[in-house]
Amino acid sequence: MGKLANKTALVTGSSRGIGRATALRLAHEGALVAVHYATGEEAALSTVADIEAAGGRAFAVRSAFGVPGDVDTLFEALESGLKERTGVATLDILVNNAAIMGGVPPEEVTPELFDRLFAINAKAPFFIVQRALGLLADGGRIINISSGLTRFANPEEAAYAMTKGAVEQIALHFAKYLGARGITVNSVAPGITDNGSPVFDIPQAVEQMAQMSAFGQVGKPADVGDVVAFLASDDARWITGSFIDATGGTLLG
Ligand code: NDP
Repeated sequence: MGKLANKTALVTGSSRGIGRATALRLAHEGALVAVHYATGEEAALSTVADIEAAGGRAFAVRSAFGVPGDVDTLFEALESGLKERTGVATLDILVNNAAIMGGVPPEEVTPELFDRLFAINAKAPFFIVQRALGLLADGGRIINISSGLTRFANPEEAAYAMTKGAVEQIALHFAKYLGARGITVNSVAPGITDNGSPVFDIPQAVEQMAQMSAFGQVGKPADVGDVVAFLASDDARWITGSFIDATGGTLLG
C-alpha cells in the first residue's frame, strides 16, 4: 500500500510541468488527485489518463486564476469531484503550484502585469488556503511552490520573485495557525526545471542553465514532485513552516 493510501489531494496547475509530475507521484502513492488546469484541458485529461493507466485515481478540475470567482469555481469542481468519488469533500493535501512568470526587464513591468502576477501567484494561493481550511483533515498538508529566485537574483523576474516571496509567508504564518490540528505548511523552491517549454529544446541554452545547479543539470519535474510527495507523507510530520531548497544546489552559488 502506498504512503498516501486513502488520502485526497489537490495540485493546482498539474496539467503539465512540475504540477503534473507531482500529481503522478501523489497518485502513485495512493492519493486520489484533483488535477487542476486553467486552459489546457487536453493536457489535464492526459495527466488523469496517465494516472489511471498506472492504476491510480484522479479527476480534472478547471479554474482560471486571476479573475473574479476563481476560487469559487475551483472549489465547486473540487468538492463535487471528491463527493462523487469518496462520499465526502475532505482534502488531505493541498499543493499550490500553478503560477505564471514575468520574463521582462524591470523597466517593462506594467502595473497590469504586476497585478496579474500577484493575482495568480500570491492572491489565489492565499484564498485557496483560506477556502481549504474547512475541507482540510487534521494531519493534512499544505505545500506551496516558491522559487529559488527568492534567494537568487534575476532582474527579469523581479516582480515574479516578489510574488514568490509573498507565497512563502503562507508557510510561516499558517504553520503556526494550523499546528494544533497537525497540519503542516511548507514551501518548496525549485531551481530551473525542464517543464517542456521550447527553451529546453535548445541544447546551448540547456547547457548554460545546467551550470547553475551543483549537479550540472537542469532539474526534471519529478525532482521537485518527489520532494513534494515526501512533505505530503507522514514521514514529514515534524517539518512545518519550512523553506525547502529543491534547486539542485543552485543556491550554493
Ligand atoms: P508550467 O508553466 O509548466 O505549468 C503551469 C501550470 O499552471 C499549468 O498547469 C497551467 O495550466 C497553470 N496555470 C497557468 N496560468 C494559470 C492561471 N491563470 N490560472 C490557473 N492555472 C494556471 O509550470 P512549471 O512546472 O514550470 O512551474 C510550476 C511551479 O514551479 C510554479 O509555481 C513555478 O513558479 C515554479 N517554478 C518553476 C521553475 C521552472 O524552472 N520550471 C523554477 C522555479 C519555480 P494551463 O496549462 O491550463 O494554463
